[in-house]
Amino acid sequence: MSDQHSFETLAIHAGNTADPLTGAVVPPIYQVSTYKQDGVGGLRGGYEYSRSANPTRTALEENLAALEGGRRGLAFASGLAAEDCLLRALLVPGDHVVIPNDAYGGTFRLFAKVVQRWGVEYSVADTSDPASVRAALTDRTKVIWVETPSNPLLGITDIAAVADIARSAGAKLVVDNTFASPYLQQPLALGADVVVHSLTKYMGGHSDVVGGALVTADAGLGEELAYHQNAMGAVAGPFDSWIVLRGIKTLAVRMDRHSENAARVAEMLSGHPKVTRVLYPGLEEHPGHEIAAKQMKSFGGMVSFQVRGGEEAAVEVCNRAELFTLGESLGGVESLIEHPGRMTHASVAGSALEVPGDLVRLSVGIESADDLLADLQQALGR
Ligand SMILES: *Cc1c(COP(=O)(O)O)cnc(C)c1O
Repeated sequence: MSDQHSFETLAIHAGNTADPLTGAVVPPIYQVSTYKQDGVGGLRGGYEYSRSANPTRTALEENLAALEGGRRGLAFASGLAAEDCLLRALLVPGDHVVIPNDAYGGTFRLFAKVVQRWGVEYSVADTSDPASVRAALTDRTKVIWVETPSNPLLGITDIAAVADIARSAGAKLVVDNTFASPYLQQPLALGADVVVHSLTKYMGGHSDVVGGALVTADAGLGEELAYHQNAMGAVAGPFDSWIVLRGIKTLAVRMDRHSENAARVAEMLSGHPKVTRVLYPGLEEHPGHEIAAKQMKSFGGMVSFQVRGGEEAAVEVCNRAELFTLGESLGGVESLIEHPGRMTHASVAGSALEVPGDLVRLSVGIESADDLLADLQQALGR
């Protein structure tokens, strides 16, 4: 597939070549572990064993590489499995990483409770401020980790500026692109070395699969990551690969609607007397608004806000919502509401990444915006 095609076309066609045997227009689910060899070592299409490679996973991996503008895509059993593989491929004991002061709770837990035990140190920086990233560097820094927009505070990091810092420090820049998706933001083009995804979220898009991905534009690094993917084995299965590939076909239209609906929700919340602060990069008063406007196509479907009355009031809003389903995760077609302090980010309590108790996070779905606004208004109370 020519990479001259536009994103919407690649989303539907990259990796999705018609099945050579039957002409099926959708790649079949190759639910198989091993492959008949034509004489010892005579592999058909390079397929030998499905941990190493499986045609349905290959289709997804080619699609992911095309959408991020990379050379190599790799699909994993979850976002955290992808992160784990990446960190074990890049780091050795004694190395140092810079992590953001606002990130997915599970990412922080991986650094603080798992990676640190292997002798890898980390420092926490406000990655929305390049000076804070520079100040956190040591002579052993090998990775700078960025999540933009961040989870759950919707902070914005200037990817190109941090890429310059990483390059001059001899460190790799990793960008978790889960909140934006490659339709809204392409970190590799801005200088990132590796993009991380939880495919569970917008890429899958229907709250029906858990998956993760790594994409890089560096063919050598791609080979190394593929080696580790096979050596460690946390690969995406054929059915999960297939269902993510199907979700991605509508990514562009879904993201447009997520962004439109979230902008309307953010605007309504900004004028609501029970809301003290709205965190959405599409709002002009958001400190990262200009950088987001520069590096994103639109501002995405995630909105967080702080509620007058503190933690109990925030929990009450979550409990009263009806159309917004109370639940963890994000990025599906259906709207979700949650209390990060007690739910997704409970693992960062007491750390530098602790989130405010009065915070509510919304994953704004693609239902009618009017219905979503009415539900939030009733949840906030008259
Ligand atoms: C969910 C999430 C992850 C982890 O992905 P899983 O698929 O749940 O393992 C990582 N980063 C971000 C930003 C996420 O939202």
